[in-house]
Amino acid sequence: MIAHRMKGMFCASLLAVALAAPAAAEPVKLSLLHINDLDRIEESKARGGLARLMTLVNRERAAAEHSVFTHGGDSISPSLLSGFDKGAHIIDLFNEAELDLMVLGNHEFDFGAAVTRERIAEARFPVLGANAIDSTGTLIEGTLATWTREVGPYTVGFIGLTTPETPEISSAEGVTFKPLVETARGLSENLRSNGADLVVALAHTGIVEDLELVNGDSGIDILLSGHDHLEITYYNGQRAFVEAGSQGEKLMVVEVTMDTVESRGKQVFVWEPQFRIVSTAGVEPDAAMAAKVQTYLDQLSKELDVALGKSSTPLDSRRASVRGGETAIGNLIADAMRQGVNADVAITNGGGIRGDKTYDAGTSLTRRDIQSELPFGNRTVKLQVSGEQLLEALEHGVSRVEEGAGRFPSTSGLAMTWSRSAAPGERVKSVSVNGQPLEMTATYTVATNDFMAKGGDGYVIFTEAKTLVDAAAAKYMASMVMDFVAAAGEVAPKVEGRVAAVD
Ligand SMILES: [Zn+2]
Repeated sequence: MIAHRMKGMFCASLLAVALAAPAAAEPVKLSLLHINDLDRIEESKARGGLARLMTLVNRERAAAEHSVFTHGGDSISPSLLSGFDKGAHIIDLFNEAELDLMVLGNHEFDFGAAVTRERIAEARFPVLGANAIDSTGTLIEGTLATWTREVGPYTVGFIGLTTPETPEISSAEGVTFKPLVETARGLSENLRSNGADLVVALAHTGIVEDLELVNGDSGIDILLSGHDHLEITYYNGQRAFVEAGSQGEKLMVVEVTMDTVESRGKQVFVWEPQFRIVSTAGVEPDAAMAAKVQTYLDQLSKELDVALGKSSTPLDSRRASVRGGETAIGNLIADAMRQGVNADVAITNGGGIRGDKTYDAGTSLTRRDIQSELPFGNRTVKLQVSGEQLLEALEHGVSRVEEGAGRFPSTSGLAMTWSRSAAPGERVKSVSVNGQPLEMTATYTVATNDFMAKGGDGYVIFTEAKTLVDAAAAKYMASMVMDFVAAAGEVAPKVEGRVAAVD
């Protein structure tokens, strides 16, 4: 305004407008600091981890006029640590980080809704769950449908939404999930009639659902999403939509400028987003958070040495063994995967079994043993394939055995015979699934790992399969094998003709 006055009469009309505008018309900036899908508290390859993320969040908070640190869901599970404390550690760490707001993701229900409620009770930050309805017909105890924050003269309303697929991909028994767009629309109207200028949906929803919220009649302005582990910034002039990858490797900053402008004689609210994706690579970890994370990692280390159960048969995970033929340990892993997602069959690649050692009969298996056999953090996904596709996958599996290729299959629920001397692609001689001959036109459900489901080790055929449980919904293979051995107490896997070479 001072600048206008100095220009004197030339700007008289502009000056009049400026003087007429209310004091509230100064633009106000709100920084939404967003992460999603973080269950790994430690860094990996010098990225991510809560200590590095904390440094970025502190830096952004200090620089921002106003900020809200949001979490788009999926933290309580499926980390190794969560296998011991059902996710209590991560709520403790987010309390420490002074997280402002979280929405329930599907993995928040992996230990059942009773545990979800326990974790919510421990959180010192609000947890949103607008469309998650408990068996009593109300919101899950401790959750809120909406939350508002005053930002200067403006009110920003938040709505928390969770993918309605959650009952299929988690253990949310008794909880039902209301439709996303309809729920968002009702609550947006509510928030606006109660004075909200801007409406933000914090949603743990898949990309198709995200686009329904962004393009549909949801009434929202900004969508902060999760679930797909994608890095997304989107703005179409009316609505903005972001997702921040996963594991806190990057912090998504949406700087929202809010203002009041005159339009056709009326004061109207306007806003505009500006996106920044800030990497944790090269960021000095926050010392206090690093110390707290380390105490949990030390606990984990002790827990890893605990014996889960005994193998009464010898096991052999040497490289040439798991890439050259059927092995007892491969059968054990495949059995755990098949049971873990309740599939007809399981196929997993020898290249994913890494212990490279032998275990005598009677060895007590520790969590560390399983973790070192399956170190990649792969998850068990569930696909639906035809008999023809299953056969093609098995042919692929034995196609380069002479090179010791990592694709060699360990299986469960099926028995095949194959010929080493036949040409690749013609090696499989017979296949039966759970005792019945393979039918080309029948459909089968397959447990496999997320690496193979994406075409890894050349299993391109799996990229054409229908996905029933995707990587975002899946649990870690290693945890599944640990649970399997612990539940059994004693296992006795054997080579029994599942992948039997006839020559
Ligand atoms: Zn998810």
